[in-house]
Amino acid sequence: MRILAGAYASQKQNACRLPPRARSFRRRLLAWYARHGRRLPWRGLNDPYAVLVSEVMLQQTQVRRVTGFFPRFLARYPTLEDLAAAPPDAVREAWDGLGYYARARNLHAAAREVVDRLGGALPARPADLRRLPGIGRYTAGAVASIAFGANVPALDTNATRVLGRVLGIRRGGGAARRQARLWRLAEALVPRGRAGDWNQALMDLGATICVARAPRCPVCPVRQSCALGFGRS
Ligand code: SF4
Repeated sequence: MRILAGAYASQKQNACRLPPRARSFRRRLLAWYARHGRRLPWRGLNDPYAVLVSEVMLQQTQVRRVTGFFPRFLARYPTLEDLAAAPPDAVREAWDGLGYYARARNLHAAAREVVDRLGGALPARPADLRRLPGIGRYTAGAVASIAFGANVPALDTNATRVLGRVLGIRRGGGAARRQARLWRLAEALVPRGRAGDWNQALMDLGATICVARAPRCPVCPVRQSCALGFGRS
């Protein structure tokens, strides 16, 4: 495992020189995603605002609940401008049932800031997105890659678990250092021009096959590229 992780790490920031196993990992995962990626109401929408709303909702709520909630919220506030113009109480009411209302407050404040300060256009760069209320590294990476095609990673819990297992990055030595290392490796692995699909593919694999307690390695599409799953049957 250490050898594999070292090989990935040594190729940081140079995707064209990534070792064969990294290439096969990307190829296999993207092929699997094309056929088996989850069909979710926010996927395929060519609207950065809709992507932002979905990602904020997913921050602390399970996908299953968000799938029912997302279309209703979008129907009520179909554009960033609509959300920005809404009274705070109405936004809170529209969020009722999802919980963690700080997200609604931040999303509302972000919409107002984009309208008031940025001319209504959501920023495309992760660094600019992170200046908006409630948007951290994961959400910025997800919105930038999915909505704008930026070649940046987005590590949520599922994607972090998948990368940690595939690359053989063991726990220990400090959670913050491990997470920082995974983000560096994730940056190197992002397929140029496919970042949105790639990030969503990692999330989907983590949600359906590379699950937390009992990963389904025998049926995993990337097991031949995985430090943990290789040889499991
Ligand atoms: S082979 Fe197993 S550990 Fe590796 S990514 Fe697949 S399910 Fe996860």
